[in-house]
Amino acid sequence: MSVCIKDQIQNMNLVIGCTIGCDYCYARNNVNRWHMTEDFNKPVYFPGKLRMMDRKRPQNFLLTGMSDLSAWKQEWLDEVFSKIRHNPQHQFLFLSKRPDLLHIETDLENAWFGVTVTRQADLWRIDALRNNVKAKHYHVTFEPLFDDPGTIDLNGIDWIVIGTMTGAQSRKIQTNPAWTYSLTEQAHSLNIPVFWKEDLIPIMGEESMIQELPASFNKVLEEQNQWKTKR
Ligand code: SF4
Repeated sequence: MSVCIKDQIQNMNLVIGCTIGCDYCYARNNVNRWHMTEDFNKPVYFPGKLRMMDRKRPQNFLLTGMSDLSAWKQEWLDEVFSKIRHNPQHQFLFLSKRPDLLHIETDLENAWFGVTVTRQADLWRIDALRNNVKAKHYHVTFEPLFDDPGTIDLNGIDWIVIGTMTGAQSRKIQTNPAWTYSLTEQAHSLNIPVFWKEDLIPIMGEESMIQELPASFNKVLEEQNQWKTKR
């Protein structure tokens, strides 16, 4: 039985707002609908949420569900990195579509830096990630996919996620099963775990689903379960 990625990795929206401007952005719709900030194009930092990082119960967190790391101010990053360092019980993920704007060097063991690739023309982002972010862990999310990404240099990447368009455009734009299998084979040939998001079930079939997580994410989830039974 496949799982929902949001049950494995929770969103913590420390920054709300993004300047990238994807026309399929669900975050913009939600922010505007619920009036979460004045203007989605102007990222706002919510430092009050940092205290969630001090929780002892281990969790995997995505910190950029409603923003792009490239628009984060340095002082925000400094505060967040300090919290990450002091909370090794959690794993933290960041995503960007503009890794050319990033300049990060960190030895954090529990921070994962990734890029989103939506088409072959985006593959430069993987190189830019490796060049501009010097970190312990890298990941790539292929979602939504508009064309076949083709042959990819995944060296040094520690996890890939594959998904498809969701929402209003999902009937017109779908991830082709052949692209999914090709990405998966390329990753597996380098022993990189692969996670197919639950949105791929209607395309790939429940019985075919592959949902692998990095060992450190699995460890967090195991500790979460033990935490429940201890209490
Ligand atoms: S990068 Fe993400 S948050 Fe920013 S506009 Fe695109 S989908 Fe929305």
